[in-house]
Amino acid sequence: MKNVNSVVIFMYLFSFSNLFGSNGKQTYNIEFTKSLKEIRASVKANITMRNDTLYIGEYGAWHEKEGWASYISDIKVRNKNDKELELKKVDRLKWIIHEDIIDREIYIEYKISFPYALPDFKWPSGPRSTASFYDGKGMVIQSESMFIYNSLESNTYVNFAVPETWKISTPWNELSNNHEYGNQSLKFLSKNVIVIGNYKEILIEESNFSSKLVLLGYKNPNLEIIEPIYRKILKHHTQVFNNKEKGNYLMVWFPDGEWQTGEGYLGSYVVIKPQAPSESHIPFWANSMSHEIFHYWLGGKIDAQNWAESQWFSEGTTELFANLSLIRNNIISEQQFFNLLQKHLVLYQHFRYKWGTPYDIISLIEAGSNKSEYNIAIYDAGTVTALYMDILIRTQTNNTKSLEDLLKTLYIESMNDRGKKYTIEYVIKLCSFITGEDWTDFYEKYINGTEFLPIYEMFKKAGLDVIISQSGVHIKKSKKINPLQRRIRKSIFGLIDN
Ligand SMILES: [Zn+2]
Repeated sequence: MKNVNSVVIFMYLFSFSNLFGSNGKQTYNIEFTKSLKEIRASVKANITMRNDTLYIGEYGAWHEKEGWASYISDIKVRNKNDKELELKKVDRLKWIIHEDIIDREIYIEYKISFPYALPDFKWPSGPRSTASFYDGKGMVIQSESMFIYNSLESNTYVNFAVPETWKISTPWNELSNNHEYGNQSLKFLSKNVIVIGNYKEILIEESNFSSKLVLLGYKNPNLEIIEPIYRKILKHHTQVFNNKEKGNYLMVWFPDGEWQTGEGYLGSYVVIKPQAPSESHIPFWANSMSHEIFHYWLGGKIDAQNWAESQWFSEGTTELFANLSLIRNNIISEQQFFNLLQKHLVLYQHFRYKWGTPYDIISLIEAGSNKSEYNIAIYDAGTVTALYMDILIRTQTNNTKSLEDLLKTLYIESMNDRGKKYTIEYVIKLCSFITGEDWTDFYEKYINGTEFLPIYEMFKKAGLDVIISQSGVHIKKSKKINPLQRRIRKSIFGLIDN
């Protein structure tokens, strides 16, 4: 039940003395007010114009005729001499200023309403298309909805003024305790969500990496179940990448709809799930949580040159380490872990084997060109292939190296050279470099080609027996194994002998 219970209207005054004359940076001052009826924000910003157009986004607002512009009103634009400039709406998400303003700073004011925070608001029927939400205490805002902008590349600062009891959770750089954020591109600031209001936030810090967890709208959010699991996952992932760099991440959960869905952003993730996290569905919700956080590094910090051809690697490796983080930390049982692997194997088999599917001619490289149609190739074949790579590296190096060495290398290289993007060809070269063996054959057969991986031999090398039949896949720990197989099994899965 949504409930607006505060009668007080908070008013704040900003100082604009330093709005202008700030070379190359732009600042948005966003002031939130809450009344009995609604929540509103007024924005005052300075922007340097690179062309004559102002934009607003629509991600998550597809149900609205005008995208996020539907919630914007009272736009006023002035130049440095305080002259009001004429603004013309030319498209759903676009305005043009009919004056000579290119390379000049302008001052812009507008108001934002948040209809989804109204007590009687109803989402349009059909699948949930936005991660916006309000439970009477906290409001999840797609940050894109707050910015009218000219360039997503501009270095941007955001200052909030909010009612005294409110807090703000963001994945952005926090510059002071006074709700000042940014010194980041507007792209990063806007391709995220933030939470604002009076709610509970859990802060988890691990190796310089700081993560906030917010659950809104659940009667009992079961924080005692989710918090320790979240902590273990975060610790696991920071260790995989040997993360030293300062990082911020925000994870938000709220209930809606009939089934679990989620939306990933550059530094945040929203889980939309009818029920609060519970013991009974741990493998499901903990795995998707782990998967999304892993993308902060792989997919986020480590970026591919060619999105489509790298999808199997990015998603497969992410899913593999999501699964592994759960078994290595005893978040799920051995059987629950085997169930996850078995599911990937069944679907990989379905994708690649001759069971009448049309996909047996599609290589992993090609599958990314249609992610939704070749979903199984990307996620399940990708996971099995990433596991094969890990086992192969370990076997070739007497278990002294692993896929984690490859990920650490990719991470360090992208940290040292921010513009650097990896290719699959380079990933294969790194495998050859790490192991001292030639991986060309592997690439040609299983990545660029359409051969089925030698599953039995592969699992055997990691001390597991796998039985694949038309009725399913069964995995169990091998009884007779040599010391190397035992060490590999322990290192990858953390599985110990009974
Ligand atoms: Zn993913």
